[in-house]
Amino acid sequence: MQLIPFDKRDGFIWMNGKFCDWGQAKVHILNHGLHYASSVFEGIRVYNKKIFKLDDHIQRLIDSANILDLSIPFTKEQIIESTIEIVKKQEIINGYIRPIVWRGSEMMAISAKNATTNIAVAAWAWPSYFSPEQILKGIRMTTSEWSRPSPKSAPTDSKAAGLYMICSLSKHKAESKGFDDALMLDYRGYIAEATGANIFFIKEKKLITPKADCFLNGITRQTVIEIAKKLDITVEEKHLEPIFMKNCDEAFLTGTAVEITPIQSIDEYSFKNRTIIKILMKEFQNLVNNI
Ligand code: PMP
Repeated sequence: MQLIPFDKRDGFIWMNGKFCDWGQAKVHILNHGLHYASSVFEGIRVYNKKIFKLDDHIQRLIDSANILDLSIPFTKEQIIESTIEIVKKQEIINGYIRPIVWRGSEMMAISAKNATTNIAVAAWAWPSYFSPEQILKGIRMTTSEWSRPSPKSAPTDSKAAGLYMICSLSKHKAESKGFDDALMLDYRGYIAEATGANIFFIKEKKLITPKADCFLNGITRQTVIEIAKKLDITVEEKHLEPIFMKNCDEAFLTGTAVEITPIQSIDEYSFKNRTIIKILMKEFQNLVNNI
């Protein structure tokens, strides 16, 4: 499949209050976001022209920006309105939205308190490429050599661009070894998450997931927990040592991009059952298609 590079596409992007031509949504090479990772972003899905959990995502964008000491010069309502508008302008039925906030070009030094904060929202069509049968086969993962940092070492509650440095490194390494994704442990050696998604396990019919105390408490993660509770499935959030994976029946990832993706194996541990995953996937699809 030939993908058109993202800077060569057509349409509009909302940038700093204006709808500009896609190709004109540019920054100068000297900008603080690029040099010092003073940037936060979001990933949001559009299902049948409706935006899933838009309010939650924009709130997280604002919270992430505040954590990085960035003050967005637009209100939450203005950002929400512009996001809805850009989805309409791009004529998206099923797609993905990428809001991004970054510190500007006025200062090129570590301290750049008075530099401007910029914001843009782009959206593009993104239909599902895989059939449910292909998805149910599950992905193969391997454990990364990188660990998720402690909240004392990085702003782990924010969706900050800088936190993705070790995610890209981990995913590239896993892919080069023939795997689909990497499992990341945290700074204490507990199971944390994948490179861009949260992780869940099913053991003795219970849904068990790592406690989100040093990584993103994903909006999809929270949605799946709510669905499970409604279905009377017991949910446990706790610290998990890697050996915990030994006798798990099912495992899956959750995230805006991956939705609910079953895991076939993580290193020597394999997860063959799909019973509860199938129920959760069905409920999740019902939910996103009826917003
Ligand atoms: N962890 C990381 C590192 C992610 O990039 C994402 C995707 N945003 C998630 C978890 C899942 O978050 P959400 O369900 O809100 O997309």
